[in-house]
Amino acid sequence: MEKLRYFDHAATTKLDEEVYIAMLPYILENYGNPSSIYSLGKLNKEAINISRMKIANSINCKPDEIYFTSGGSESDNFCIKGIALANRRKGNHIITSKIEHPAVLNTCKSLEKMGYRVTYLNVDSKGFIDLNQLERSINRNTILISIMLANNEIGTIQKMEQISKISKRYGIYLHSDCVQAIGNIKVDVRKLNLDAISVSGHKFYGPKGIGFAYIKEGVSFFSLIDGGHQERDRRAGTENVSGIVGIGKAIEIADKNLNSNSIKLKNLRNYYLANIANNIPEIKVNGDLEDRLPGNINICFKGVNGSDLVQELDKRRICASSGSACSSGFINPSHVLLAIGVNERLARSSLRVTFGKENDVDDVKYLVISLIDIVNGLRKA
Ligand SMILES: *Cc1c(COP(=O)(O)O)cnc(C)c1O
Repeated sequence: MEKLRYFDHAATTKLDEEVYIAMLPYILENYGNPSSIYSLGKLNKEAINISRMKIANSINCKPDEIYFTSGGSESDNFCIKGIALANRRKGNHIITSKIEHPAVLNTCKSLEKMGYRVTYLNVDSKGFIDLNQLERSINRNTILISIMLANNEIGTIQKMEQISKISKRYGIYLHSDCVQAIGNIKVDVRKLNLDAISVSGHKFYGPKGIGFAYIKEGVSFFSLIDGGHQERDRRAGTENVSGIVGIGKAIEIADKNLNSNSIKLKNLRNYYLANIANNIPEIKVNGDLEDRLPGNINICFKGVNGSDLVQELDKRRICASSGSACSSGFINPSHVLLAIGVNERLARSSLRVTFGKENDVDDVKYLVISLIDIVNGLRKA
């Protein structure tokens, strides 16, 4: 059987073997409850503290500003709802963008049902938010701005330092979904002047079902999961110790290889883009080529259905994403592509390829050859 070639690292990544090995003792023999005061428990508490320190070190914050959650979606809910509910008396207005992940967009939709008002900022043709519109949207009821650092579909990296300057000028909290950024680009919460961020382990070779939120010390916060005193009373429940150990190890490995990995992914991406552009006519590259995640490339193949493309690639054991949500057989064009001004028809023809550390040039050659063949075939049919 043909080797599996995986180009969907924005969806999830394969667990790093080193991470797996670090987790093993906390799956089997060290099963104590971290809150228990005997050695078997304390062992686990210590492992959690070490992981918290590794993460704090990586994003440049205090260990006590890190809260472990079940992943990116929970972290987005945790940060946005936690800040919105605690600051209800100050105001009820939230500003976000049209290209956020559903975990942010649907959290905002849910808050709208509870009486909050939400402004969804436009983006330009490359996916950058309009800083003037951001500033104009602020009013005396604005309590929170939530803008993702890097987009999961088109890879655009926002000018976050400029966004945080505006948020600080008006004294408004700033949250950023950093799920795609962590592991791919340096995230320094002090330098970026962020009040809250969301992160997920499985997007950078860590385990699934674990993530964390950073909430800056002093930010007023309302906790949604009540119970025991875990996570400084902000997120009750016995900790996912093996997951916490795993995400700490994963962030450590990601940081160590950040620069070399970034160069590698950019090279694979450039190779892919050049060869597709030279061999397939009528394509459109989505997003910005400069301020972009190193491994992300998103292309529309005019006249081709993105989900057909994914199905045909799958027959050749290649994993990539059409970037369009498919619900009950009906393919919805991506809200991100529509927001950058791609028309509905063209938006349905997109293919997102996201490279990762186990990919090599031979894999990309195989991808390119397959795509040329598939696109030609589908266009003839
Ligand atoms: C994957 C992703 C999420 C959701 O993370 P989960 O851990 O799968 O819940 C949120 N935001 C972005 C930008 C993502 O890419």
